Amino acid sequence: MLVQISRPGRTSLLSSEVLDRSRVLDTLMNNLDGMAYRCLNDRHWTMVFVSQGCARLTGYQPAEIVDRVDTCWEEITHPCDRARVRACIEGALRSGQRFSVQYRIKTRSGEVRWVVERGTVVLDEQGERVVEGFIEDVTAHRTMLEAREQAELRYRHIFEHASEGIFQTTSEGNYLAANPALARLYGYATPDELIDKLSDIGRRLYVDPERRAEFHHLMQTHGEVLNFESEVYRQDGSRIWVSENAHIVRSAQGEFICYEGTVQDISERKHYQEQLERQANHDLLTGLPNRVLLADRIEQGIARAGRMGCQLALVFIDLDNFKFVNDSLGHGVGDELLKEIAGRLSTCLRGSDTVARLGGDEFVLLLNDHEQVSSVISLLERVLQEVARPVALSGREFHVGASLGVALFPDDGGDAQTLLKHADIAMYAAKDRGRNNFQFFTRELNRVAGERLSLEAAMRVALERDEFEVHYQPKFDHRRRIVGVEALARWFHPELGAIGPDRFIPIAEETGLILPLTTAILRRAFAAARDWNRGREQPLRMAVNLSPRLFLCGDIVAHVAGLLVEAGLSPSHVEMEVTETVFLGDSDRAVTILRAFKALGVSLAMDDFGTGYSSLSYLSRFPFDIIKIDRSLVTGIEHDEEMAMIARAVISLGQSLRKTVVAEGVENQAQFDFLRYQGCDEFQGYLLSRPLPEAELTRLLASGGVIAKVPA
Ligand code: C2E
Ligand code: MG
Ligand code: MG
Repeated sequence: MLVQISRPGRTSLLSSEVLDRSRVLDTLMNNLDGMAYRCLNDRHWTMVFVSQGCARLTGYQPAEIVDRVDTCWEEITHPCDRARVRACIEGALRSGQRFSVQYRIKTRSGEVRWVVERGTVVLDEQGERVVEGFIEDVTAHRTMLEAREQAELRYRHIFEHASEGIFQTTSEGNYLAANPALARLYGYATPDELIDKLSDIGRRLYVDPERRAEFHHLMQTHGEVLNFESEVYRQDGSRIWVSENAHIVRSAQGEFICYEGTVQDISERKHYQEQLERQANHDLLTGLPNRVLLADRIEQGIARAGRMGCQLALVFIDLDNFKFVNDSLGHGVGDELLKEIAGRLSTCLRGSDTVARLGGDEFVLLLNDHEQVSSVISLLERVLQEVARPVALSGREFHVGASLGVALFPDDGGDAQTLLKHADIAMYAAKDRGRNNFQFFTRELNRVAGERLSLEAAMRVALERDEFEVHYQPKFDHRRRIVGVEALARWFHPELGAIGPDRFIPIAEETGLILPLTTAILRRAFAAARDWNRGREQPLRMAVNLSPRLFLCGDIVAHVAGLLVEAGLSPSHVEMEVTETVFLGDSDRAVTILRAFKALGVSLAMDDFGTGYSSLSYLSRFPFDIIKIDRSLVTGIEHDEEMAMIARAVISLGQSLRKTVVAEGVENQAQFDFLRYQGCDEFQGYLLSRPLPEAELTRLLASGGVIAKVPA
């Protein structure tokens, strides 16, 4: 036989020599990592030959194994594996095939090792069937495999049982792998069903069709996406919000293999977030946008109107009579009313408009896209109509109106704050105009509002410095004797000059300064009356005016009683003048307070009688002692027959109700004569005396208190 051993560049031919085959085999076998053997097919697997590798494999020297019964291969084979090994080899014996079997052996030192035995059945020199083969140690290999298997099992466990969805997809958007959590998340029974049915996720998964492109883009630029939040469709068409973390998987050569990542359901968090956002931007009671969101919308509206060169209208709405409902029927009913009105306002608007609630009974409309002021006006008319419809609350019908003020961008202001301020000013003008109407902002309104503001500030200073004065206008009987005086507030501002009560009283009422102002006036008036009446036979009655607003604040009766005690003045010397507007709000409460004043011992006068609408009915129902016929009913009686008739009727009515009838604003002799002839009890007016400072009135009283008859 020829054996050719080749080496690069050199060939040596050993053709003439006979190869020592057994030596070559010896070398090969003894250097193999493992043990070559021949054994008998007996119950000990008695070894007849083992190679040198036996020592490394089993710890026994070949001589300790060959032909030995006590350390035969059956003994070395692990007891648990013996039957299996035998079955395998006997199978090979029968079939004449090669065999290969893995099992454990016990080494000389008692260590257990895994081996693999590969062999075949051959006939020996005597024609007996023996087994020849090779056994090698695979313990290390097996341990490695087992470790790998364990690791894989662990990872599979994580994959199968993770609460997050885990996926691998192609770049075209088809699933390569998905875990049960992902299947559940997207509404599929199993991962296989998901992989099967959900393809082209760009179009079929994301609600926003741009989302997949965005995902690709992030992947291209960063190789990963983090907390990528999207709304997705589940299999049944319902929607959920998910957050994805994913990266690109590449081969060792850097080629794209797939996208791999996790998916988490964040619907609950999103929902909660939305709720929080809603709460921060909406009014809880009515669900309308609040001040914060409104400011945002105005900014957007202004930017848009500025770009497109169109107008924007901001409408400030204040409900009329809301305070009445809230105070008299309680806040529950007030809330219902606000909700009802909020609903009605919403129905008046177009999609591009906004209605917001600022708080209390204040609402704001933001009207975009009204090219013509006329369309704003028709909308405002609709709003007024809607609000004016009766509202049924706790079994009763209520009528509320609204006062609306309008400011337009860009004419009335260039920013949200200015527009709101100007709409507010216009709203106040609407209130002054008698409510339930709308007013557009004008420069003039702005001037008046500005003046109001500075007057308010000046008033606070004046009150602190006790700068308000009182003038006294006497009231006379038919013989021109002074029977009483009316205290009238006066304000002489060091720079602004004289400011009339018609200007500062309304501001005091709005700002709450009316209480300190009235207190200051009453203190002076009560002290003056006390001084004048000292030693006077027929006491002088001091009339003071009480604002209807005072009827709303605390215990006004106790407050006045305290001031009387402080001044040492008898209540019987005092008249309280109130106008019938006091009945406009909670009339029951007003009557209770008037009765309490009566009980205190003061007289009550209805001031400005004849200017309201239902004076007559009030007169018979409420405990007034005196009625003061308004100046407007006196002016003209001397030459206007109709006026004269009305005055006559009023006087006779007062008489029939046994009230003292006082005429205001008597300016000439003819008026005086007419009124006296009709039976009027007392007279007040420039004809007889203008309001006078305290010192002058003191002088007048000292001189007897009678005004000489003025020549006609
Ligand atoms: P009033 O209570 O009806 O007071 C009468 C007003 O008519 C006073 O104006 C008085 O100066 C004016 N007057 C009197 N006689 C004549 C006349 O012959 N001709 C004309 N043209 N006017 C005459 P005044 O002082 O400007 O007060 C206006 C209103 O301001 C008062 O009307 C009253 O409602 C209110 N007011 C004045 N002082 C006070 C106050 O201390 N408290 C409250 N709450 N209101 C006050
Ligand atoms: Mg008066
Ligand atoms: Mg009056």
